[in-house]
Amino acid sequence: DAQPRVQALDEDDIAPLFPFPRRGDHKYTRGVLGLVAGSDAYPGAAALAGVAAIATGVGMLRLVGPRRVADAVLAITPEAVAGRGRVQAWALGSGAPAEYEMRASLADARESGLPVALDAGALALVEGPLGHPAVLTPHAGELAELLGRLEPGDAPDRAAIEADPVAAATAAARATGAVVLLKGPRTVIARPDGSLVAPAPGPAALATAGTGDVLLGVLGALLATTAEHEPVPDLALVAGLAVLLHSAAGHATTHASGLPAALEARIVALRESEAGR
Ligand code: AMP
Ligand code: MG
Repeated sequence: DAQPRVQALDEDDIAPLFPFPRRGDHKYTRGVLGLVAGSDAYPGAAALAGVAAIATGVGMLRLVGPRRVADAVLAITPEAVAGRGRVQAWALGSGAPAEYEMRASLADARESGLPVALDAGALALVEGPLGHPAVLTPHAGELAELLGRLEPGDAPDRAAIEADPVAAATAAARATGAVVLLKGPRTVIARPDGSLVAPAPGPAALATAGTGDVLLGVLGALLATTAEHEPVPDLALVAGLAVLLHSAAGHATTHASGLPAALEARIVALRESEAGR
C-alpha cells in the first residue's frame, strides 16, 4: 500500500464552508437540520447537540424524538421545532435515541440523497456501504465495534485502533463509502478513496462527557448549511471545519484560557514538574 495521503486543513478550502448568513437568506435557505439524539436516560445529549447546531448557524433545528427529550432542548433553545418535516441534513445517534426513529431518518436520507452525520447508537445501524453522503463520528471503541461487524475475523481492537488510527479510519471509510471522522486526542478524517485530512489537535479539556454530542451538532449543522452548495462540498473538509469549530469551543470553555498568561505558564510548569516526579 502507498503512503496515506494526509492533507493539512487549508484555510482557503474550509473558509467558504463557514455558514455566514447572506443578505436575502431566509431560514430554509440557511439549512434545516433534523436531529435524532437523546433519550429519557440521556436527554442532555440532545440539548448539547441542539445548542451546538444552533450556535453553528442552522436556519432551523427540527427535533425528532420523545416529548421529554424535545423539552430538554426547547428549555435552552426555544427556537427549535419538535417533529419531523423537510430537512437538508440529518444528525443521528448521540445519547441512545430510538432505533426506529434513526432508521426512518436514514430511509429519508436514502430516498432524498441527504447528507447524514452518524454518531454513537446510529453507528450500530451501519452494516455496509451507505446509499447517501455520510460522515461517521466514532471514537476508537465504537470504530472497533463497527469494523468487527464489517470485517469479521481480522478487525482491529480498540488498542490497535489507538495505535494506528489512520489505518482503521481508512478501512472503515473504504468499507462504508462514508467519510470517517475518528475522534480522539488526535482526530483523523478519512475519505473512501484512502486520502486523509488531519486537523490540528484540540484541547485535552474536550476529554469529558458530552463533547462528542456537541461535535455531532456542529457537524450536522455544517452538513445542513452546505447541502445545497455548488459544487457539492467535500464532506471531509466539512468534517474538518466541524473539528476546528469544536476545538475552538473547547478552548473557549477551558478554565485556564481566561487566566493571565504568566499564571497559566506557571500552572503548566507545575503540572510538568508533577508529571516528571
Ligand atoms: P466522545 O468520545 O463521543 O465522548 O467525544 C469526545 C470528543 O472529545 C471528541 O471530539 C474527541 O476528539 C475529543 N477528545 C477526547 N479526548 C481528547 C483529548 N485528550 N484531547 C483532545 N480532544 C479530545
Ligand atoms: Mg460519544
